[in-house]
Amino acid sequence: MRDKVRCLILGSGPAGYTAAIYAARANLEPVLYEGMEPGGQLTTTTEVENFPGYPEGVTGPQMMEDLKKQAERYGTEVLSGRGTAVDFSTHPLKVTIDDEHVIEADTVIISTGATAKYLGLEDETKYSGQGVSACATCDGFFYRKKKVAVVGGGDTACEEATYLSGLADKVYMIVRKPYLRASEIMKERVMNNPKIEILFEHNAVGLFGNNGVEGAHLIKRMGEQDEEKIDIAIDGFFLAIGHKPNTEIFKNYIELDNIGYIKTEHPSTRTNIEGVFACGDVADPIYRQAVTAAGTGCRAAMDAERYLSEKGL
Ligand code: NDP
Repeated sequence: MRDKVRCLILGSGPAGYTAAIYAARANLEPVLYEGMEPGGQLTTTTEVENFPGYPEGVTGPQMMEDLKKQAERYGTEVLSGRGTAVDFSTHPLKVTIDDEHVIEADTVIISTGATAKYLGLEDETKYSGQGVSACATCDGFFYRKKKVAVVGGGDTACEEATYLSGLADKVYMIVRKPYLRASEIMKERVMNNPKIEILFEHNAVGLFGNNGVEGAHLIKRMGEQDEEKIDIAIDGFFLAIGHKPNTEIFKNYIELDNIGYIKTEHPSTRTNIEGVFACGDVADPIYRQAVTAAGTGCRAAMDAERYLSEKGL
C-alpha cells in the first residue's frame, strides 16, 4: 500500500477501469480502489448487448473481469477498499481509505458511480435480506418457481423483469404511470412475455409477511377518485427505480448539481478542484451507459495526465 501516488482512481466500473488503462499506459502508475461494489453496477446486470465489440453480447461480470485484467496488465495497482473521507483543501489531495489509511495523490479520478434507489418504505428496511432486493442477478436465484414483483418502468425494470421471468413462475411489474419509460425493444420484450404481468398506474405502499415477504400492498390510481387498494402475493420485491450518485464524501469540496451529480467543466472531466476529475455515472445523469462511462474514463485519465505534465508533477 503506497502513501503517495500520482493518480488515485476511486471506483471500479467501466469508467474507473478505463481511466486506469489509459493512466497506466501513460506511466502515471495509478492506484485504483475498487469501492463498495467491485466491478460496479454492471456486475448486477446479466447480458450486456450494446457494448461495441461484443457481437454476441457479454455478461456484466465477465466484462468487468476483462476490464480489470486489462488495467492490471499495464501496471494499475487494483486494491480493495473504499474512500471514506477526502481533504481537497490542499495539494497533494488527501483521501482516507476505509476510515484508516490516508493516501496522498497529485490527481484523483472520481468514478464512484451511482447506487440503486429505494422507495423509502419502512417495510423495505424491515424485510431487507428477506425478500427485498435491488439486484435481480444477485438474488433472483432464490425465487425459482416463486412469484416476484419489480418496481419501475424503465430499462432497468424491464431487464430485471425479463431476467426474473427465467427463474420465477410469475413476475409483476409495478409501474406508477400508464406507460413504460423503457426503450422500444425492452418494452416489447416484457409485453410479449407470458410470465410478466404489468400493473400500470400502481404504487407499492407496503409489504407484508410473517416469514419474509409474502405480499405487497398496492394502490391503483393513487390520489384519484377511483383509487383502489390491492394486495398481491409475492415472495420477492425488486426495486428498479433509478439511481443516486455516490458523492456523499465529496460534497464539502466538489460542486454538485441539485440531485448530487458531480459538475464537470464540459467537455473536460475537470471538477471545480484542481487535480480532481470525475467520470462515469457519478457525473452523468443523462446517458448512464457502460460505453459512455468508459469514454469519460478515458477523458479523465488524459485530463489527469495533461494536468500532471503542466504542473511538472
Ligand atoms: P429510469 O430513470 O429510466 O427509470 C426509472 C423508472 O422507475 C421509471 O419508470 C420511473 O417512473 C420509476 N420510478 C422512479 N421513482 C419511482 C417511485 N418513487 N415510485 C415508483 N416508480 C418510480 O431508470 P433506469 O434505471 O431504468 O435506467 C437508467 C438509464 O440506464 C436509462 O437511460 C436507461 O435507458 C439505461 N439503461 C439501459 C439498459 C440497456 O440499454 N440495456 C439497461 C438498463 C438501463 P416514471 O416513468 O413515472 O418516472
